[in-house]
Amino acid sequence: MTPSAPATTQNGSAHGFFAQVNRMFDAAAAHTDHLEGILHQIRACDGIVRFEFPIKRDDGSIDVVQAYRAEHSHHKKPTKGGIRYAPNVNVDEVMALAALMSYKCAIVDVPFGGAKGGVCIDARQYSAAELERITRRYTFELIRKNFIGPGVDVPAPDYGTGSREMAWIMDTYNQMTDDDLNGLASVTGKPVGQGGVRGRTEATGRGVYYGVREACSYARDMERMGLDAGMAGKTVVIQGLGNVGYHTARIMQDEGDAVIVGIAEIEGAIYDPDGLDVDAVVEHRRTTGSILDFPGARNIAESAKALELPCDVLVPAALEGVITEENASNIQAKIIGEAANGPVTAQADQMLRERGVLLIPDVYLNAGGVTVSYFEWLRNLSHVRHGRMSRRFEERNAERILRAVDELTAEHFDNELLDSLIERIGFGASEQDLVNSGLEDTMAFAYDEIRIIREEKGVDMRTAAFISAINKIAKSYADMGIFP
Ligand code: NAD
Repeated sequence: MTPSAPATTQNGSAHGFFAQVNRMFDAAAAHTDHLEGILHQIRACDGIVRFEFPIKRDDGSIDVVQAYRAEHSHHKKPTKGGIRYAPNVNVDEVMALAALMSYKCAIVDVPFGGAKGGVCIDARQYSAAELERITRRYTFELIRKNFIGPGVDVPAPDYGTGSREMAWIMDTYNQMTDDDLNGLASVTGKPVGQGGVRGRTEATGRGVYYGVREACSYARDMERMGLDAGMAGKTVVIQGLGNVGYHTARIMQDEGDAVIVGIAEIEGAIYDPDGLDVDAVVEHRRTTGSILDFPGARNIAESAKALELPCDVLVPAALEGVITEENASNIQAKIIGEAANGPVTAQADQMLRERGVLLIPDVYLNAGGVTVSYFEWLRNLSHVRHGRMSRRFEERNAERILRAVDELTAEHFDNELLDSLIERIGFGASEQDLVNSGLEDTMAFAYDEIRIIREEKGVDMRTAAFISAINKIAKSYADMGIFP
């Protein structure tokens, strides 16, 4: 059914970011048979606060800061989404990003509605003490407006914020609500010592790896592009060696046996068809201040040209809008893994699809961060580290099984073999093991769901991902008995 509501926002223009997200939504909704009223409800932004507050600068002057928090969908509570500190944050942007969070959470079965917060500042212009005052005051305002809480709305880091800001938020929340036993779960992305979970830092990159690996596991899909199944041996170019790009590249290389042939950063790009050692490149950049002149690699002065290098998999992991109608026809990669948010423009998307390139959409592929945030929230609510109750038991159990097998076999293992088997097999899962395993399962399962929709409906992966989200959110409403 084609939705009849126009792709406009309550507060934005028909050309704004929120309207763009709604256009993607509408394209997917056209392949479903949900009632227009349900589609309208899913698309709508359920709640938004906009406020201003004064903060005292270190020099004694006063700045008035504008801030927002949008809760896009209350079909599941709490809502969840990052807080960004950026000078151009606006109401349209937070609504759009909150909507994407709703769809992202639904796609990977993380039981949250979507939200996003924004504080209109250039964080680099403020001292740490000033940022702390801003963060605490922002949190105070969210508490007063009931836009934060373990069962209400749970922020996380985004552009311009990190674990330090999350620790300030948690501390402010705890001070103001000192009878809330679950205060730790009011925010995720905290330092491990403050209730954070192991594996959160690398979660988005690790999720990108699992998603691309799952795509490569389908021999039929790979055959269509003239590729062999599997991640091993695939040549990869990565744009951006930050949090997401670095971890994606490192894990693809170390765990997937992929060959990282190109890396692009702000200062330029490097290419070596025989493969670059990711950690060595990071070390080279740390010592020389640049990835350029890496031993054995060819320099590419214009960084964006790296997107056009010959490779099987291209992973833009830096900025939005880097693949456009200008460079789409020069892209040689067969698979594009959208690690960054919105790296491919709508026109480029169409051009690439017409050439048979497999685009793995951002709304699915970079969901590793929110997935592991969910594990952090669960850890905080259970007040126990994942694996704490079972690790030693699993270890002993595996040892008992190995010893029993040894006793049952006519020819006993020699002691050395038995000890080495116990060492290799007889261990219990650590928190990191459990987080990685949960993330792997989540990414693989969601990919397979989206792929089935793609095959059934004859659509691209992005549309299929949105269809998956719409169907799941519509089902939540139906299960609540709110809609038929
Ligand atoms: P980051 O700041 O850690 O890394 C970005 C890297 O890109 C930096 O090293 C920067 O120098 C580099 N870069 C900037 N401009 C470039 C250019 N023109 N060419 C090449 N490199 C350039 O950021 P991040 O957290 O890794 O996020 C990257 C992208 O992934 C963003 O789009 C972000 O929204 C998205 N994302 C991040 C997360 C997360 O958990 N961090 C989750 C979901 C989506």
